[in-house]
Amino acid sequence: MSVQVVSAAADAKVPEVELKDLSPSEAQPQLALSTAAVSAMAPAAGGGDPEAPAPAGERPPAPGPGSGPAAAALSPAAGKVPQASAMKRSDPHHQHQRHRDGGEALVSPDGTVTEAPRTVKKIQFADQKQEFNKRPTKIGRRSLSRSISQSSTDSYSSAASYTDSSDDETSPRDKQQKNSKGSGDFCVKNIKQAEFGRREIEIAEQEMPALMALRKRAQGEKPLAGAKIVGCTHITAQTAVLMETLGALGAQCRWAACNIYSTLNEVAAALAESGFPVFAWKGESEDDFWWCIDRCVNVEGWQPNMILDDGGDLTHWIYKKYPNMFKKIKGIVEESVTGVHRLYQLSKAGKLCVPAMNVNDSVTKQKFDNLYCCRESILDGLKRTTDMMFGGKQVVVCGYGEVGKGCCAALKAMGSIVYVTEIDPICALQACMDGFRLVKLNEVIRQVDIVITCTGNKNVVTREHLDRMKNSCIVCNMGHSNTEIDVTYQSISQCDFLVLKFYGIFLAQLYFCLGKWLKQSMLSSPLRAALIELQHCQASLRTPELTWERVRSQVDHVIWPDGKRIVLLAEGRLLNLSCSTVPTFVLSITATTQALALIELYNAPEGRYKQDVYLLPKKMDEYVASLHLPTFDAHLTELTDEQAKYLGLNKNGPFKPNYYRY
Ligand code: NAD
Repeated sequence: MSVQVVSAAADAKVPEVELKDLSPSEAQPQLALSTAAVSAMAPAAGGGDPEAPAPAGERPPAPGPGSGPAAAALSPAAGKVPQASAMKRSDPHHQHQRHRDGGEALVSPDGTVTEAPRTVKKIQFADQKQEFNKRPTKIGRRSLSRSISQSSTDSYSSAASYTDSSDDETSPRDKQQKNSKGSGDFCVKNIKQAEFGRREIEIAEQEMPALMALRKRAQGEKPLAGAKIVGCTHITAQTAVLMETLGALGAQCRWAACNIYSTLNEVAAALAESGFPVFAWKGESEDDFWWCIDRCVNVEGWQPNMILDDGGDLTHWIYKKYPNMFKKIKGIVEESVTGVHRLYQLSKAGKLCVPAMNVNDSVTKQKFDNLYCCRESILDGLKRTTDMMFGGKQVVVCGYGEVGKGCCAALKAMGSIVYVTEIDPICALQACMDGFRLVKLNEVIRQVDIVITCTGNKNVVTREHLDRMKNSCIVCNMGHSNTEIDVTYQSISQCDFLVLKFYGIFLAQLYFCLGKWLKQSMLSSPLRAALIELQHCQASLRTPELTWERVRSQVDHVIWPDGKRIVLLAEGRLLNLSCSTVPTFVLSITATTQALALIELYNAPEGRYKQDVYLLPKKMDEYVASLHLPTFDAHLTELTDEQAKYLGLNKNGPFKPNYYRY
């Protein structure tokens, strides 16, 4: 079965979406999208004459990727506009791509892709540690959770939970629960919370218009009929709307959480109550985390044929434990930077055995999630934790990428005096032209009231900076978890040497005791570098002369011997994901992209997608955006035939070449 999704509303009414069956033999693309009508699928009528004159600088590229007939534009297999292959991201660029949750994926010499070691936490697979039936004690569970991956430990919007501080300490794994239909194929904190969760889901539906439109239009057509999707994402109300949409499109789903803290228990309960096998609760241990994933995958009489992953843990688990499953799996859809990076590494190592869709790098994800999500949530995170007033406050934002731009815009609008630090002259110039003072952190560190890091880098704020900050300065991070603000002994876990990782503290002590006699020149340079790092880690915030006082959830006062206090939020982890909610509408855009990617991969004829990583065709990005326009009563201008010809475009898109930066 193939799917044709056609939107008829260029006039900003709710776009009409048709999900049609096409014969598998048809050479048409499977998921064809346009804003005009079925005619969009035909070669462009007057869809652009490449010979037509165009003003210098405005002239689109020669027909090829990103231009030409809409149908061809969606047909990677045709090779004419292999959006997918043309948009393949080059690997070197991503050798050390950082994850929004703090991860960095590395490939070992044997080709195994892992998370790079990082502050305290690192992915460890249950099969390397223990068997599920050898259950740890409660204390054991807690301690295990400390070694789980950062991506699975960063909290994602816990603020809306009714049940965060449940007194019920019994592990959901020890409970026998059934939903009202008598099914026990789930594991959630408390099925009785389903009603609260249903309300959360209904609220989220209001802000997720595109998924609701897809759902409505799919009532007759079931483009995911027969799809068995195993998912591993944050389990929030927004995810629930996505899951229920996938169900409405015909899919069967089983789901686990990609993060041990982010599950909204009542939402998980509501999903379980409506028949979704969900295995997740807030505060899982590492063992629970893998157990939940395993329960989704390892089921008698049910085998997944699609994967929807956020962080790559589920994919990795199937690779490790059930590689044969990939014989039936038609594709992987991955949302996160880390997960995507792992997929590229697998592909490079020739180990990727199914096609994968990189949703993270879709324009509709990156440009909206990073910029608008942060613009909307930075103030919320700061307000909830500190109750501070922003007007007139001096703030320094480190990094002027998408996240930094969002933070700066929000703070400026509130009347804050915003300084920016940057290493890239282009972003620096953008900051200047947007009206921000570009400074070095040292120049303003004594005077600012708030320091926000958004670089994806490490050690941007060091102990030296922290020493120089004024009393009550607020320090927080919107980018990489733990790495940007030098909070703790992170250097140890970042050492190249395994031995140093295990014996780091001991060696550090030895080094400092024997330092006078130890000739560094006698040591190998990596060891020397590691020792210098260890020396550096002594200067972090976790030192005996500083007192830590937890004043609120996610708020620590770090107190210097002279009484000076620094207000550290979320221990230097992602502020918005740890301390506030993120806007549903932005998540709707990402979720719609995920749904379309699943439809596309599931319905793609043999050979359209190879065992590689693909970007969603630009036309789908445009389609996702168009589905969200009616919310704003936005009226999109249509190209005239003449204009389309002049620009060399199909009237129905795609409207930009792949290299366009938005
Ligand atoms: P980006 O690459 O667009 O921007 C980062 C900027 O920081 C770049 O311009 C870079 O030049 C600059 N930079 C690097 N090192 C620096 C340093 N030492 N000092 C000053 N500037 C420096 O990335 P982005 O999309 O803005 O994302 C930034 C981080 O935020 C990433 O870690 C990403 O994973 C994370 N992120 C967070 C959220 C959220 O909701 N909090 C959302 C998306 C992404």
